[in-house]
Amino acid sequence: MDGTGIADTAPVFILLGPPGAGKGTQARMLEDAFGLVQLSTGDLLRAAVAAGTQAGQEAKTVMAAGGLVGDAIVLAILKDRLAEADCAKGVVLDGFPRTIAQAEALDDMLARKGQKINAAIALEVDDVQMVTRISGRFTCAGCGEGYHDTFKPLQVANTCDNCGGTQMTRRADDNAETVMSRLAAYHEQTAPLEQYYQVRGALYRVDAMGDITQINTSIATLVGQVNA
Ligand code: ADP
Ligand code: ADP
Ligand code: ZN
Repeated sequence: MDGTGIADTAPVFILLGPPGAGKGTQARMLEDAFGLVQLSTGDLLRAAVAAGTQAGQEAKTVMAAGGLVGDAIVLAILKDRLAEADCAKGVVLDGFPRTIAQAEALDDMLARKGQKINAAIALEVDDVQMVTRISGRFTCAGCGEGYHDTFKPLQVANTCDNCGGTQMTRRADDNAETVMSRLAAYHEQTAPLEQYYQVRGALYRVDAMGDITQINTSIATLVGQVNA
């Protein structure tokens, strides 16, 4: 696999954590604060599904069932995105890697240019909180800002705080049945990544049970230190 478009000295951060942990919310905050680009493989896959590409068609059923899309598809989509010019300033990966094979492929991709990840930040929430977060999640269709019915409601009814858009979407896979499969996939295939990064000295754990601002402060402090 070829290298990426990430500049030699630009950072690569990974946000690990179960579905609903707050990876997307925190990644967007880091994007603004540190001038990084958020890359969500979930968003890239949903775009492929909506566009009806070959990869999207293959991913669609797996995503609807709450399983993990095959490594080859995910890696091809991510690799294309990483080659784009805006990634030069550094990236925060949200929802990738999700398997050991993906982590190894990322390490290989970076190693081709003598690079490595700066930190893998694990957001730790319990299963009950994860289900509560997922079941109230909705997103602005205009700008992608994430909201929650209880924890991050719109300030003005039906209007995005960020862009003023009025169309909100809820993900089809944010339902009670699929959540259990996603949680199982997380525990079986993604949780082992904590050990993978720990032995490489790159793992940082953050208690993600608190409120959004509090967690952001912990993560931003960490990113600032690792980035210094
Ligand atoms: P992930 O990307 O890990 O799946 P999201 O960032 O989409 O998670 O967050 C899931 C839901 O929980 C969203 O509705 C979001 O607004 C909400 N949320 C995120 N962080 C917190 C938090 N610390 N406390 C309460 N709700 C949160
Ligand atoms: P969440 O953080 O709530 O689990 P995502 O948007 O990250 O949601 O992912 C949605 C779905 O997309 C996952 O359930 C999975 O089917 C698929 N997906 C996203 N990223 C990956 C990945 N790195 N590897 C395999 N499947 C993925
Ligand atoms: Zn918006």
